[in-house]
Amino acid sequence: PVVTRFAPSPTGYLHIGGARTALFNWLYARGRGGRFLLRIEDTDRARSTEAATQAIFDGLGWLGLDWDGEAVSQAANADRHAAVAREMLEAGHAYRCWASQEEIEAFREAARAEGRSTLYLSPWRDADPADAPDGPFAIRLKAPRDGETVIEDRVQGRVTFRNDQLDDMVLLRSDGTPTYMLAVVVDDHDMGVTHVIRGDDHLNNAARQAQIYDAMGWEQPVWAHIPLIHGADGKKLSKRHGATGVGEYAEMGIPAPALRNYLTRLGWSHGDDEFFTDAQARDWFDLDGIGKAPARLDLKKLENLSGQHLSVMADDAILAAVADWAARTGRAPIDAARLRPAIPLVKDAARTLPQLIDRAAFALADRPIRPDEKAEKALDAVSRGILSELTPHLRNASWTRDALEGVVGDLAQAHGIGLGKLAAPLRAALAGRTATPSVFDMMLVLGRDETLARISDAAT
Ligand code: GLU
Repeated sequence: PVVTRFAPSPTGYLHIGGARTALFNWLYARGRGGRFLLRIEDTDRARSTEAATQAIFDGLGWLGLDWDGEAVSQAANADRHAAVAREMLEAGHAYRCWASQEEIEAFREAARAEGRSTLYLSPWRDADPADAPDGPFAIRLKAPRDGETVIEDRVQGRVTFRNDQLDDMVLLRSDGTPTYMLAVVVDDHDMGVTHVIRGDDHLNNAARQAQIYDAMGWEQPVWAHIPLIHGADGKKLSKRHGATGVGEYAEMGIPAPALRNYLTRLGWSHGDDEFFTDAQARDWFDLDGIGKAPARLDLKKLENLSGQHLSVMADDAILAAVADWAARTGRAPIDAARLRPAIPLVKDAARTLPQLIDRAAFALADRPIRPDEKAEKALDAVSRGILSELTPHLRNASWTRDALEGVVGDLAQAHGIGLGKLAAPLRAALAGRTATPSVFDMMLVLGRDETLARISDAAT
């Protein structure tokens, strides 16, 4: 069975690139009846605050990426990491190194000055154990010196690293703490991870990690290193390109299914399909469809997709998304009872939640409706006169679209004006603005009493 994982370092927020990595892992597992695990790489104690971890949980939760079991804390496994380092030592795959930081630095400095390779090879690798001093030592991997370490990567293809270019990496520092490289391998092994899907900034690490797998006689996972996300200008994504945190997209009012869809397509393709449901994404997602070139973040595309998702989302899901958006952005809660009937009228034209709410403003507003400047112009004296004639007709009309169209159409005809000429002041009266859903739709949503009251307000 497939086991994937997302292994973020808690940086204080869920980066959009991390979110995509998580999503790919989640899709791959969920589409294959596998498990998707979460590991918080919290070994940097200063940065790994409760809040920073919570931010990861929140981002994943908002995106709808559920993980199986408890989130694993990497820091909590430090004893196990150290035990594996000692196991490698006993098996002869690692050795004790007493070289001090100063010694190693001095070596590197000299090498740089002389233009030699700065690759540090510890003299302790082949030293006679009898010469071992007292005092703290690091444990280093006894890495192969000849040949190559090969990563068969599902995205990058076969990637080879010359072993004489790789040093004997430290597994356990002299203070007894495990290194990142060791921790990742031990955790992935212990968690039963079968597929490591992550950013290609970790490709070099894969070579080092492969050496640890091999030394332990553990089977390597399937590797899939995905190209990073770039900005529209083709440069690595950074703050200067705009929003980089998942939370920022949530605050922009992009609904989660749309961001999921967009991120799924970001670096992965399935023919020409742009818009798809979660079920389709799970069915279709595979490693073969991941491109080798960095994907570019395209806000326009994201907003278009967002609009498409809003138009197919269930009204309840939209209401939930609106409530979440309002809470996230510190707005007053939006009256769901008033918004609900307006949703079918507005969801096709909106690309984000705030756009949708804005278009539904007529349903959310309280009397008296304050016309904006354009609406004010539409409510000139003549129009107000016609509106006041309309009210008795509406009072007696049955409240159906056909009847309302009939009443309004007849009045327009009686005045020898087109329906549009009457619709403009009517819009202004009902919504206080000139760009709105259809007047008949608004009347049906508002109901007879509210409609009449708004028209009377505007007509006098
Ligand atoms: N903690 C690493 C990061 O946040 C990921 C490590 C991995 O996926 O192996 O970049």
